[in-house]
Amino acid sequence: LSANITKAEAYLARFKEGGVMNHIGGKSVPALSGETFENHSPVDEEFLCHVAKSGAADIDAAARSAHAAFAAWRDLPATNRKKILHKIADGIEARAEEIAFAECLDTGQPLRFMSKAALRGAENFRFFADRAPAARDGQSLPSPTLMNVTTRVPIGPVGVITPWNTPFMLSTWKIAPALAAGCTVVHKPAEFSPVTASILCEIAHDAGLPDGVWNLVNGFGEDAGKALTEHKLIKAIAFVGESKTGSMIMRQGSESLKRVHFELGGKNPVIVFDDADLDRALDAAIFMIYSLNGERCTSSSRLLLQKSIAGEFIDKLVARVNSIRVGHPLDRNTEIGPLIHQTHFEKVCSYFDIAQKDGATIAAGGKAPQGKGHYVRPTLFTNATPDMRIAQEEIFGPVLTTLIFETEGEALEIANGVDYGLTGYVWTQDIIRAMRFTDKLEAGMIWVNSENVRHLPTPFGGVKASGIGRDGGDWSFEFYMEQKHIGFAI
Ligand code: NAD
Repeated sequence: LSANITKAEAYLARFKEGGVMNHIGGKSVPALSGETFENHSPVDEEFLCHVAKSGAADIDAAARSAHAAFAAWRDLPATNRKKILHKIADGIEARAEEIAFAECLDTGQPLRFMSKAALRGAENFRFFADRAPAARDGQSLPSPTLMNVTTRVPIGPVGVITPWNTPFMLSTWKIAPALAAGCTVVHKPAEFSPVTASILCEIAHDAGLPDGVWNLVNGFGEDAGKALTEHKLIKAIAFVGESKTGSMIMRQGSESLKRVHFELGGKNPVIVFDDADLDRALDAAIFMIYSLNGERCTSSSRLLLQKSIAGEFIDKLVARVNSIRVGHPLDRNTEIGPLIHQTHFEKVCSYFDIAQKDGATIAAGGKAPQGKGHYVRPTLFTNATPDMRIAQEEIFGPVLTTLIFETEGEALEIANGVDYGLTGYVWTQDIIRAMRFTDKLEAGMIWVNSENVRHLPTPFGGVKASGIGRDGGDWSFEFYMEQKHIGFAI
């Protein structure tokens, strides 16, 4: 561990000294106001770096830069864009350790997951690089008098706003398809985890991405984020974050008729029927809530158990939850690191009281360990009912609420009885039941007898308060591009 800490501190030393800057028009620049804010580590609350505190003027400069670079980037042969995006992926792979280590200290996410997240970022770039040449593909729809042709063109400069959970991977997930489509980008990363967005921008610059194609503006949501969503030169906003922020962005972007794509919160159910492979279901349920600190939009934060198997399942679950290792994110054995920041830590811990007041039981975890850092123990609530706040609200920590059902109909009612609809996980050996159930389950993505396994060509996104639009495969291009119809008289 101490060797890893030394290494991570060495990677972060230049940020500690020089701060996290903006990147506009190919140059590293401070906020125009000269203002900065402090970024602290969730591990021990120590100072990590100063960050440019940008506002509307910085966003304006970045949007103008993205606008000026747009035509040349759009008109560059797609094969050239493909080459540059592959070079960015090469750069990510070459600096994967630096990215993973920086992300651990900046976010508190454990190294065992962050090493993979950095490489997933490279995969995202490769996937969309290979698709760039087909992004403009259309079709012909002839009529008796017209040869009708459809084609796609990039929408223009776009804004990308990302959250603090797995910030590196999520940034690549949004930015790679935008660039592949031929859009230019202004990225506003989360204020709580700005370091790896800066490294990513540097990698793109070193890969030969033309100046102005990718601009990075740091700052708070209510200043820089808001200005980005309101800017007239920005044609679309790809946003990942909380549902209530999504509503705000929709309002802010309405004046300029912004196209929006939202990946928002979740309260995802894992439903275990009594005929399921219970050992595999147990492994998956644990992984889906207690990995990535539970700070994961697709986490299975509600566990719905059929009554006949609930007692035994919960007993095994309690034993497993109590053996999960909480610790320093740079320790390779750590399964749960500290939560991102003090306010979030307090929010997560507040649910321990809420649960007990509402009549639920804390079967494991509950109290936060003493000492520095935003550490919470993995927590399991039992004796909960579907109307309780712990069964309705997104807690976004390593906290799982169990609920009991008797019939398939009851399971469906509980699963659908929340505002959210991002993912669902169904465990049963009865394939007909699985088909019937998944057809009615209100979620954008469902896995049957599996944890969440991401496959890049498939659509990613949620329904209800969990989002608008889809990413992945061609769906990403549909968002970042405009359909165009041209009719030739024949
Ligand atoms: P958040 O909504 O507080 O912030 C996300 C980003 O929005 C940040 O960059 C922030 O600065 C910016 N922002 C805040 N107010 C803004 C405003 N008025 N205008 C423009 N930008 C603004 O979310 P968070 O707390 O950083 O992230 C956690 C949330 O993200 C959780 O709800 C989680 O479920 C969700 N999330 C969803 C997905 C998904 O794919 N559905 C993925 C990851 C995270």
